[in-house]
Amino acid sequence: MHEWALAEAVASAVIKEAEKRKKKRITKVKVMLGELQQIDVDSFKFALDPLFKSNPVTAKAEVELEIEKCMLKCNLCGEEWGFDDVTGEEAEFIHFIPEVAHAYMKCPKCKSPDFKIVRGRGVWIEYIKGDS
Ligand SMILES: [Zn+2]
Repeated sequence: MHEWALAEAVASAVIKEAEKRKKKRITKVKVMLGELQQIDVDSFKFALDPLFKSNPVTAKAEVELEIEKCMLKCNLCGEEWGFDDVTGEEAEFIHFIPEVAHAYMKCPKCKSPDFKIVRGRGVWIEYIKGDS
């Protein structure tokens, strides 16, 4: 499960950030999860919890997770759309293998296959709050 690897990466990034900002104790962390990463939020929380608890810096931190919805933008006409606008089997397939999105999706307005992923990719820490 890639949730475990991600949780470890997030936990170590939070600790590093805390050190950099000279925070002795982190009170709140907000993590954004891109929709395209297909992360199971419950598994992710389950993996992150013991990692945070095992470090005194993050032991008391409140963790907020938010899924960032995918947003695509047409390079030709500028139309923006997301997975909510794609229905049926096609959407399921693209969800499962985001790399093939370009082969299967077209701009809903001008039908161009030339688009970029604006949002919904990757995992990052939106912010950390803590006491110095
Ligand atoms: Zn277009």
